[in-house]
Amino acid sequence: MKATRIIAKFTDLSVSNTRKAVAQAAKRAAKKAKARAASKVAERKARQEALAKLGQPLKRRPRIQDEFTGLPVSRQRKYQLRKLKERRCIICGEPAALSHYCTRHAVAARERQRAGKGRARRYTNSRTYRLEAFAALEDLTRLHLGPANQ
Ligand SMILES: [Zn+2]
Repeated sequence: MKATRIIAKFTDLSVSNTRKAVAQAAKRAAKKAKARAASKVAERKARQEALAKLGQPLKRRPRIQDEFTGLPVSRQRKYQLRKLKERRCIICGEPAALSHYCTRHAVAARERQRAGKGRARRYTNSRTYRLEAFAALEDLTRLHLGPANQ
């Protein structure tokens, strides 16, 4: 579902302008995520170098000890259960908008299920559509205000 159409319905922006603005916002978000990932890698490298300088062997991250540690399930499932308990998206770890997923992954799950079941009708007032439109509106607002006024 195109959030752009929903936004265009609620604002006086044209569909093409809305599409452009949403695309710009998505580009910015992608750039930010890339920078965040790069800084994490640099951080880990620095930590390893510092440890190596001290002459200590590189250690593994200590094993997480919690109620999920001994469960006979995969590491992936444990990750999901831990995120679920923290009310975070079980895919990306962002704060959850619904019970299991952030807005982005809730929309992805909806579209995946629609495709699988061959649905044609869209219930555009359901939560994922509203969350989607709200998130896109937030991006737009940020674009209009510019980075200095956030
Ligand atoms: Zn997510």
